[in-house]
Amino acid sequence: MMRSRSEDLFETAEKLLPGGVNSPVRAFRSVGGIPRFIDRASGSRIFDVDGREYIDYVGSWGPMILGHAHPQVQEAIRKAVERGTSYGAPTVQEIALAKTIIDAFPSIEKIRMVSSGTEAAMSAIRLARGYTGREKILKFEGCYHGHADSLLVKAGSGIATLGIPGSPGVPACLAELTITLPYNSTEAFRAALDRHGKELACVIVEPVAGNMGVVEPAPGFLETLRELTRQHGIVLIFDEVITGFRLAFGGFQNLCGIEPDLTCLGKIIGGGLPVGAFGGSQAIMDCLAPAGPVYQAGTLSGNPLAMAAGLATLEILGSRRDDYAALNHRTEELCNAIQRLFGAADIPLRINRAGSLFTLFFSDHDVVNYETASSSNADRYAVFFRGMLERGIYLAPSAFEAAFVSFAHSDEDLEKTLQACAETIETMK
Ligand code: PLP
Repeated sequence: MMRSRSEDLFETAEKLLPGGVNSPVRAFRSVGGIPRFIDRASGSRIFDVDGREYIDYVGSWGPMILGHAHPQVQEAIRKAVERGTSYGAPTVQEIALAKTIIDAFPSIEKIRMVSSGTEAAMSAIRLARGYTGREKILKFEGCYHGHADSLLVKAGSGIATLGIPGSPGVPACLAELTITLPYNSTEAFRAALDRHGKELACVIVEPVAGNMGVVEPAPGFLETLRELTRQHGIVLIFDEVITGFRLAFGGFQNLCGIEPDLTCLGKIIGGGLPVGAFGGSQAIMDCLAPAGPVYQAGTLSGNPLAMAAGLATLEILGSRRDDYAALNHRTEELCNAIQRLFGAADIPLRINRAGSLFTLFFSDHDVVNYETASSSNADRYAVFFRGMLERGIYLAPSAFEAAFVSFAHSDEDLEKTLQACAETIETMK
């Protein structure tokens, strides 16, 4: 059989890049086969270097809620690039994006732009430590907050996919400062705060988890985090890098009515360019240099191209804020139809969905935390993934990730997805 260009390119890439990729989950290690090299993207579709077209449910892992290469976003980037690519000095655009985000999040009074979600979470933690004068932090198993050392402890999908519990290179003495608890366990949280309440600088959480697959917060879980962190003077950080502007205009906090002290953002607010941000009350944020003593900086922070792409994206989303309900409903219908197909084939499947995010867990269990997510049959997902890919549907190459539906996915796209699903299920019986 003729080799594909992707196969040739991957062979070369493996010689030049560790594992052939610049971010682990792209390598298809857990699903098998060769990653597709993508040549271009438009709307709901991505096109590989072999000329194959796929309906894309990865959406660059979240940013592309408007679909790929949205004309207004492209135009904003084109206009920005004509004025130069980076100045390392203040710009009008960063104020405009800051204002748009602050207006959308009642809990954010001041914000700082960075270049990735990792930087946002890492900096938010330093800020919380500086603000409280405490060193320990608390996170939840299966939540991923980027790859900063302190946060790379029981950190969900990328790591679960590779089957390694944490990462060599993270000093034990640093990891010891990170307490991890089961997601959604209010009792475990209460017990941990009884013991460590006075030592904790912050509690960081994905308010809807996306990185062990999609897992919604159990009723009362986030409320308890809010109540007890307040009692103990602990900074509560919502990592809304995925959920920000994804589930609604603003964050999940707008939907659940719980205000964290700090919020981390990324992905959608950069419209597909590298961006992150963290923000919160003025009292905490003003501890950051140069207003205060906690150091944080970045050569490309507030990059004008990223600001332009983010601003254009949020302007469009702002004008379509009532359309989120329809997007979420379409995703629900897709999930229900997939669930019916698997039900008819007697293949155990749990679909967890939040808004336009969903995960297919090949599991008998209700999936409520990292432990139950891990019981999902990854081998079966791999078979499903490959069947879908062959039929032109590009899902996450890992059993423990979210699928992302965008405003650009048409009814026809969803129909084709279901058709591919029905055909793939036939091969799985
Ligand atoms: N926080 C969450 C919830 C994420 O999903 C991610 C990335 O997927 C990050 C932080 C890290 O963001 P980045 O990959 O931009 O560093």
